[in-house]
Amino acid sequence: MNKILNLSLRPRVAFSDKALKSVVASKLRVPPSEIRKLNIQKRSIDARKHKVIVHLSLEAVFGKAPVSPSEFFPPYKNVSGSSEVLIIGTGPAGLFAALRLIELGMKPVLIERGVDIHERKKDIAKLIREKKIDGNSNYCFGEGGAGTFSDGKLYTRSKKRGDVDKILRVLHFHGAQEEILFDAHPHIGSDRLPSVIENIRKSIIDHGGEIRFGCRLTDLVLSSGKIKEVVLQTGEHIPVRELILATGHSARDIYELLSKKGILLEEKSFALGVRVEHPQELINSIQYHNDDQMAFLPSAEYRLSARIEGRGVYSFCMCPGGYIIPSMTSENEMVVNGMSSSGRNTPFANSGIVVEVGPGDWGKSEAGKKLPGLNFQMKLERKAFEESGSQVMAPAQRLGDFLEGRFSGSLPANSYLAGLVSSPLHEWLPGIIQNPLKHAFLDFGKKMKGFLTNDAIITGLESRTSSPVRIPRDTQTLEHLQINNLFPCGEGAGYSGGIISSAVDGVRCAEAVFNKNQSVKR
Ligand SMILES: Cc1cc2nc3c(=O)[nH]c(=O)nc-3n(C[C@H](O)[C@H](O)[C@H](O)COP(=O)(O)OP(=O)(O)OC[C@H]3O[C@@H](n4cnc5c(N)ncnc54)[C@H](O)[C@@H]3O)c2cc1C
Repeated sequence: MNKILNLSLRPRVAFSDKALKSVVASKLRVPPSEIRKLNIQKRSIDARKHKVIVHLSLEAVFGKAPVSPSEFFPPYKNVSGSSEVLIIGTGPAGLFAALRLIELGMKPVLIERGVDIHERKKDIAKLIREKKIDGNSNYCFGEGGAGTFSDGKLYTRSKKRGDVDKILRVLHFHGAQEEILFDAHPHIGSDRLPSVIENIRKSIIDHGGEIRFGCRLTDLVLSSGKIKEVVLQTGEHIPVRELILATGHSARDIYELLSKKGILLEEKSFALGVRVEHPQELINSIQYHNDDQMAFLPSAEYRLSARIEGRGVYSFCMCPGGYIIPSMTSENEMVVNGMSSSGRNTPFANSGIVVEVGPGDWGKSEAGKKLPGLNFQMKLERKAFEESGSQVMAPAQRLGDFLEGRFSGSLPANSYLAGLVSSPLHEWLPGIIQNPLKHAFLDFGKKMKGFLTNDAIITGLESRTSSPVRIPRDTQTLEHLQINNLFPCGEGAGYSGGIISSAVDGVRCAEAVFNKNQSVKR
């Protein structure tokens, strides 16, 4: 019979299959050869005390006994002849909406402005090499959406564990590593995400769904409070029954289109600031207290937050062993973000450090404008671009110099492949961002001794954390408050932040469309 064990072990044993098997065998008083498999069910690193401990919950599998949890096969149906649902955007929200529709027996037709992963990789390489941005194919736009070239962190604050577990299982089914099913802070990595996304595409097409790349939605034809047709940049008109709009928070043209059509939008708070980068070794030694078994542990993470002058300031999308990347979507703007591979093995640790801003902050300068939060965000991205003087080089400053108001005469080694330009961020970041940032950094330096070092750099602008706009929808039916066949979905609509919560929202929108169709049939 299989045995379940809860163990608290030192890293050297916990992260070695052989050593772990021998500890389990000795606990169970059996020879290691009798254990067929160790099936880890939960793993978390506890670095609160001086000696780091790894907590494990695992199942020792013997003989021919079945391994639990049992294999997961999503119940996809053949939907080739079923009624169609149009989905705009193939980010996590759009893809998971499509997969759920297939389970429910409806046919998803996905429309994507960008190209498939294979071509997208080439465009991203070109972005670094030729320093030119393609407005439809970049780190945010294209197959898989903004999460494709990311750290692939999969944790979320979502309380609905069941939904999250299913998303993780679907990702694993499509090729993500097994660890995402048991690690407390799972992540996939940008070397593995593209093949997972390709496998999801294959599932959608194999079951009768459709995906059309290089098709940007440019217009909507409205009639009697509904969207009658969508218009693509090619001039093609596609009739609409139900539309799931999952275009992400970087699709400014979509907000502008909705606003032009008189479709209700709401302002919302978001956050922006800088991306800080330290040597990973330093973060490891702070977080793991120079533990003598540090070498067996993964690159360390951190999560920081402070409340300064009534504003939240927090770390965002921390990427251990990662890269800072240029994630703008148009010319003349500068935006940075972070990604890492599954091994998280560069010598650098980066994280967004962002300050909450809200409708009260745009003030007079944006008064009377249609999308004031969006304008505020855009203006700062343009300023960051002007400061670097190049399409993809990013303005940067040493952290200590930023705090002391000094220009950095030189910049340390860093992960930003397109090149950094020394810039006085202390002069051009607006006070409502700069002052809370400075105070928060001082606070973070107290929480993590060694964090405040002039070997760390900050780069700008970390501005695409969440959407400055919400597309309001009914809390029950998930339909737009005015347009009753429009289902605003995911991060761009203001209902999620991150890969998992966007996927969960995609599933919810698919179910809402299905429920609407069921009630019409009844
Ligand atoms: C570099 C980077 C790293 C990140 N790292 C992480 C991480 O580690 N963990 C995490 O949880 N989150 C991470 N995120 C955030 C995460 O990627 C997003 O929260 C998530 O992708 C949002 O999903 P979505 O489907 O709502 O929108 P998106 O992923 O933005 O997808 C929107 C899609 O719509 C398409 N589209 C836009 N406009 C149109 C149009 N007019 N016509 C047709 N198609 C259109 C876009 O091309 C895109 O494919 C990261 C983001 C970036 C940019």
